[in-house]
Amino acid sequence: MGKLILFGAILARLLAAQTVDLTILHFNDFHAKLKPTQGRGGAAHLATAIARERENCARCLLLNAGDNVQGSPVSTIYRGLPVFEVLRPLRADAFVLGNHEFDYGADRINDFLAAAGLPILAANLLTPEGALFTGAASVIVEREGLRIGVVGVLMDDLVPKLTTPARLGANKLLPALDTLRLEAAKLKGQTDVLVALVHLWKEQCDQIVAEIPEYSVVVSGHDHGGMTKPFVVDSRYGVRLRANASELGRLDLKYDKSARKIMSATWRIIPITTAEYPADAEVAAIVDRWEKKVDAVVDVPIGTNSADRNRDWLRTWIERVMRERTGSDFAHMNAGGIRDVLPAGTVLARNIWNIAPFDNLLVTGKIKGSLIPDFIRGNSVLDPDKIYSVSTLDFVVETMRSPTSKFRDFALAMPLDGPLLRDVLIDWVKQKTTIE
Ligand SMILES: [Zn+2]
Repeated sequence: MGKLILFGAILARLLAAQTVDLTILHFNDFHAKLKPTQGRGGAAHLATAIARERENCARCLLLNAGDNVQGSPVSTIYRGLPVFEVLRPLRADAFVLGNHEFDYGADRINDFLAAAGLPILAANLLTPEGALFTGAASVIVEREGLRIGVVGVLMDDLVPKLTTPARLGANKLLPALDTLRLEAAKLKGQTDVLVALVHLWKEQCDQIVAEIPEYSVVVSGHDHGGMTKPFVVDSRYGVRLRANASELGRLDLKYDKSARKIMSATWRIIPITTAEYPADAEVAAIVDRWEKKVDAVVDVPIGTNSADRNRDWLRTWIERVMRERTGSDFAHMNAGGIRDVLPAGTVLARNIWNIAPFDNLLVTGKIKGSLIPDFIRGNSVLDPDKIYSVSTLDFVVETMRSPTSKFRDFALAMPLDGPLLRDVLIDWVKQKTTIE
């Protein structure tokens, strides 16, 4: 009996030896929110939270799921670069490229790579010559005898949905999920566990968990809604957080190396609050240096706002300003182009920058009624041969100029030139003094 118990204990220890701890810290869609907003987020506060989590972590990985730039004046004015300088001291193990990293043109991504000082993965993005655009499809990180392979991909339908042909340039995107399968095959035998680090539509993120069993974990970004619990299929886990560094994720795994299987997992969403996490001095110094440069431009009062405004209200307001300023019959603002809400009270130029961080132009064209898309004309009945005036953004027009767009004729009839939307909005507030 004693022998049996001893044997049982040895067996249990042998089995336990195959099960190792692995912790994945992650965040996504940072969107250049260097400073906290309403007590949440901020790079320096995020840095403190990451440092604390690393203290009680046997094998710790930090992953960033893309869309780090675009969303604050410092990003717009300095074309994204300060963001990677601020994130560098966080010592992530890998980034994946997001769609917004193309906002200042694909060439600018080369500067991000230098500033980040670590791999920005994009296994499915190739140069015109067929080389990996960012130079890295995957990384293998070793932590105390565990080889963790991380493969990065981004959505393959960037054009026309999320960026313009000009910004993507002659670079090519390969199908994201096929690329993940291919990279898993390439890494066979070189890793103990595979993680997909992806910037994809959320349906695709779930699809990887369900259909590509080589990946034990899928860390994703792009959808800003976050999750309340992981998406789990056959002990494989998908996780994603809300945007703007308002949260840090911690996925603690008991992982069986020989079975290549997660035995158990807990996922914790850590709210980044300035109260709980004081600013890290090193990161705060970099943030301050950059923010000071833009303060003089954007922290100036331009008017007042009579009530709290959500994005829907702001969209209607922007379309009203567009019509007033251009004299157009119809105006269209894309919902995705509105990046912040507007609290009641004094309006700073910074508020408008945060609402409209993109350098989009307000364009106005004279268009035949028959060509005007229904989502622009709404319920209005148009004379198909009459010429109407339509205003929208150059970005909207460019995305509709793709050969497969059903609104291509409309888009080709629209110009691509005009004033910056942001300047138009700021001027309007200055002139009217009150938003109501
Ligand atoms: Zn995105």
